[in-house]
Amino acid sequence: MDDAIYKRMAEKIDENPMMAPKSEDGAAFHPSFIQYLKLLYSPEEADLLQYFPRPMKFISTQEVADAAGKEIGHVEKILSGIHQRNGLTGMGNFYSLPAIPMLVNIHQFYTDIKADDMEAARLYRDYFINGKYFKYYESSAKGTPLMRVIPVDKAIEADQQKLTAEEAHDFIMNHAPEEMALVPCPCRTRAEKTGTRECKDQFPIGACIMMGPAALHFEMQGLGKRVNREQAMAYFDEMQNLGLVGMTDNTIKGASVICLCCECCCSQVRGRTRWDNPDAILASNFVPQANEDCVGCGTCTERCFFNALTMDEASGRVAVEPKKCIGCGICTLACPQEALKLQRFERSKPFETARELTKTIAMENRK
Ligand code: SF4
Ligand code: SF4
Ligand code: SF4
Repeated sequence: MDDAIYKRMAEKIDENPMMAPKSEDGAAFHPSFIQYLKLLYSPEEADLLQYFPRPMKFISTQEVADAAGKEIGHVEKILSGIHQRNGLTGMGNFYSLPAIPMLVNIHQFYTDIKADDMEAARLYRDYFINGKYFKYYESSAKGTPLMRVIPVDKAIEADQQKLTAEEAHDFIMNHAPEEMALVPCPCRTRAEKTGTRECKDQFPIGACIMMGPAALHFEMQGLGKRVNREQAMAYFDEMQNLGLVGMTDNTIKGASVICLCCECCCSQVRGRTRWDNPDAILASNFVPQANEDCVGCGTCTERCFFNALTMDEASGRVAVEPKKCIGCGICTLACPQEALKLQRFERSKPFETARELTKTIAMENRK
């Protein structure tokens, strides 16, 4: 009986462009995902949530009460309780099932350890990594990535063409200043809680820079710290200097997040470095090139998560393999000679808007 309610919820979730995690043959929902829904929602809550449309489509409390044939006061009490622990997105008396990145990470936006966190992490490992849901989380079935790389601003050679969406500072300046918040990075938080964080001595858990309504939501939930544009830019630069890769939604306008990612914990980057998803991230339109000041010390090669730099014996300088390089520019920050700069290398085209991106992802996943 219980499973039937959760399967109906999974069917709703499956209607979103990224779909829901399935078993290996695709015939059923992944059993660990159903278990995960059980961990998130009680049977009484799941019973009400089955009347919701797909994630991010809002519905009023009254509509839920009418559909369920239940008294409005009772329904409001249950929905606001779920909202308070982030299991629903809310706007006044309207609620929606959370977007997939929120749903997958709910426990991991909290840095304190709660009773269910380890079980949530175990189930994530099963449906997300073993069950290969990362392929849908990172890109469409046809290989359209959901996130793109933002290169290091100061590494772009002065004579190279740059677009606003490619320069982190200009990109941040183009977002509403009152809608930015630093929210704990759920990928590194999960690894920290489970004792599997390989980058512990290298990077802080740190934060994602949320933008727009998502920033306001996290701030209202007490999970985000409001920052202005200057603080967001300073935070971005500081994390890139440490060696974290800057990423955002694969769009030119309307991005909701800037991520600063490591290679060992990140649910996006690991697709390229550890799992079999070469389409996990859209590379930038830049690659590094060493000039005559390069002394061949090899320091930059150690910074690259993607093994894209090798020493060229003939020239004595470092050389890049463009197919492996995602154009993040992190390697350039390690060079003591300042000999490594980013040169334009046209290869990627982000979508204009989030709407175009999700439409394409939905079409490609359903074919
Ligand atoms: S995508 Fe990157 S910054 Fe965002 S949550 Fe994961 S590791 Fe953290
Ligand atoms: S070589 Fe590596 S670190 Fe440098 S830009 Fe390419 S992917 Fe980034
Ligand atoms: S760190 Fe600088 S000097 Fe050393 S190999 Fe890399 S580009 Fe050359």
